[in-house]
Amino acid sequence: MTNTQIKQLDQDYIAQTYGRFDVALSHGKGCEMWDFDGKRYLDFTSGIGVNSLGWGNELWLKAVIEQASQLAHTSNLFYTAPSAQLAKKLVNASGLKRSFFCNSGAEANEGAIKTARKYSHDKYGEGRATVLSLVNSFHGRTISTLSATGQAVFHQHFFPFTQGFEHLPANDLEALESRLAQADVCALILEIVQGEGGVCALSAEFLKGVQALCQAKDVLLIIDEVQTGIGRTGSLFAYQQFGLVPDIVTLAKGLGGGLPIGAFLLGEKVENTLGKSDHGSTFGANPVSCAAANAVFESIDSAFLQQVQHKGEILRQALEALPHVKSVSGMGLMLGVEFDETVKAADVVAKCIEKGVLFLTAKTKLRLLPPLIMSEEQIAEGIKVLKSVLVEM
Ligand SMILES: *Cc1c(COP(=O)(O)O)cnc(C)c1O
Repeated sequence: MTNTQIKQLDQDYIAQTYGRFDVALSHGKGCEMWDFDGKRYLDFTSGIGVNSLGWGNELWLKAVIEQASQLAHTSNLFYTAPSAQLAKKLVNASGLKRSFFCNSGAEANEGAIKTARKYSHDKYGEGRATVLSLVNSFHGRTISTLSATGQAVFHQHFFPFTQGFEHLPANDLEALESRLAQADVCALILEIVQGEGGVCALSAEFLKGVQALCQAKDVLLIIDEVQTGIGRTGSLFAYQQFGLVPDIVTLAKGLGGGLPIGAFLLGEKVENTLGKSDHGSTFGANPVSCAAANAVFESIDSAFLQQVQHKGEILRQALEALPHVKSVSGMGLMLGVEFDETVKAADVVAKCIEKGVLFLTAKTKLRLLPPLIMSEEQIAEGIKVLKSVLVEM
């Protein structure tokens, strides 16, 4: 097939919900991919923070192929090895107590919200079901996770949304403290770096205060690590860089390295909150997805994480030195670039695609989420192309 034929099929038969780049991808290897006309691209998107090991990683492929030939799906009525092994790794690495597996970030956050409400109801009874989140957050596209998402643009068309959600300004401890004076809140959900919101990292001081306030009020701290998790920011989980002890952690994007899987991790307070038949998911803990995640985990050791930090620093410095750049935000290999008023990030992305390099946007910023395995030479190649585009603007 050709690029043109594929685009035509998509336009005729797929719901037109995505503003796609003008590229139909055929195959990839490492951090490179090719379209159906044979054009090569260098990738700084990793499937929006998913393909952490790039494409065709040997360990990952072997695990997936072997597991698919053994058991692809079983239902959760049976015990399976990949999910049990993955749960142990997640618990050991996070310091939380148990894992629940699902299929996406939104589904992980739904489960976290259900857990928080049940914990509070079991302990305190009715009237303590409010979930707080932060302005500019993104937590998913289901009706409830849209309620949690603190961006007005998502709150249209689909009324009524799930009740019991409120958004507080980020980095404002006083606002949180005064809201928690009312005794109706069961949980606060936040991203350490607001990804979709423009790659905005929360301040360390705010996070420290959040932890203390939540603990004092028995308000559960839910950390949405769907985008920041599994090595993206230079530590396995971003919250670890701030010494936080969350009650619930949600994961998805990078967890399976390219296969669909989500998870929520349950801390001590809530490890037994969900009992038999309180929650479930047909495809949750899919053995092939869990085998893929186990392979990702094996690859991301402390030496790998140091490399992520190192390459993140190199990339950040190179970006800061480019023309038209006002600021660079984010952590590790999750970076956002703010340009001066003369440059639109979407135009930069379009021009770089023509030159064979793929970037993302987040709101008005350029967003970079390269595969975590990207080499320093590849970073230099991407920066060179970006610079050539920016000097002409
Ligand atoms: C992408 C994202 C989600 C939603 O994940 P899906 O798998 O698309 O449902 C939730 N939270 C954060 C922080 C995300 O970046």
